[in-house]
Amino acid sequence: MKKSLPPSYDMSLTDHGFEATQFKGLTYPLGDHAPEYGAIYPLSDDLGWTRMPVPGNLAHINLWLLDDDAEMPGGFAIADTGLFMPPTVDAWKAMFAGALSQRRLTRIFVTHFHPDHVGCAGWLANKFKVPIWMNRTEWLMARMLTSDIKDHPPEDVLRRRKFAGYDDARIEKLRQQNWGNFARAVSRLPTGHVRMDDGDVIRVGKRNWTIMTGGGHTPEHACMVDFHNGVMIAGDQILPRITSNVSIMDSEPDANPLAEWLASIEKFKAALPGDMLVLPAHGFPFKGVIARLERLAQGHHERLDALEAALRTQEMRATDSFGLLFGRPIDDSIYGLAAGEAVAHLRYLERAGRAKIEERDGVGWYSAT
Ligand SMILES: [Zn+2]
Repeated sequence: MKKSLPPSYDMSLTDHGFEATQFKGLTYPLGDHAPEYGAIYPLSDDLGWTRMPVPGNLAHINLWLLDDDAEMPGGFAIADTGLFMPPTVDAWKAMFAGALSQRRLTRIFVTHFHPDHVGCAGWLANKFKVPIWMNRTEWLMARMLTSDIKDHPPEDVLRRRKFAGYDDARIEKLRQQNWGNFARAVSRLPTGHVRMDDGDVIRVGKRNWTIMTGGGHTPEHACMVDFHNGVMIAGDQILPRITSNVSIMDSEPDANPLAEWLASIEKFKAALPGDMLVLPAHGFPFKGVIARLERLAQGHHERLDALEAALRTQEMRATDSFGLLFGRPIDDSIYGLAAGEAVAHLRYLERAGRAKIEERDGVGWYSAT
């Protein structure tokens, strides 16, 4: 991956006159300005930013509109699509009746399979007869999970939750729940997709976007990097303030996603110019990508070290490590994410020879080596 030419992006941003704010070594060229849900904020004459609502802590997702008018005047592509839920669908409909009424959707790029990103992709693709561009693994995950609906969770999933330290009451509660919540926030996807792959360069309008994949958050998360203009659509791979969830997934319970995540950080650090404007899926556009990547890696290593130190004095189940890893209360709504992330950290230590695991009565107990 070659380094870029000097970015020419600042001017269009500073034109708007928002004061940059500094936060932990990052610069936010637009400060805390953001578009309303379903409103389009022009980052430049060929790149728009909109937001859609997401319930819970995240509150929103950022989506991007890319001029794609080489073959079709007024054409535009979308990068990420929002949850398939009435507020998002209503906002899209209002946009198509309003600001986008004279324009034509050409294609849909999706960074990864998570519902806030792929949610409306099928609905939009079917409505406008346009293709979805995704990395193959992400596409297959989305197609698989939209079909995987059952009245109750499979037994192997419950066994793994018990192994992670869920108590009997929590297992029983889980057993009574539906399986396949993914499909509730994701519209029906078309049969096929257009494959994007790591290193591909995709021409959209007058820009070339290089696909760079990362692992750990999802298997093959795509970032779209415009090296020439120094801007990247980062999805959830590089977020400015919150850390992306790095979890063991039921589709690959023996994986070591934190190792993939840390390797991806090194990959992006080596390839990205430091002054790139990062367009994240959550939060505000920022500069300081190298500092952010270093901080993300450092945060994980600090937690791994603290976890290893704790394991020297006590045996732990994954769920016993929440206090140490997260420093905030874990309520039911995020218990599963927290458990997945805890197992990911313990797995990393285990594979690095820094922890060992013993199974007793179906529960995994970790200790230092
Ligand atoms: Zn995600």
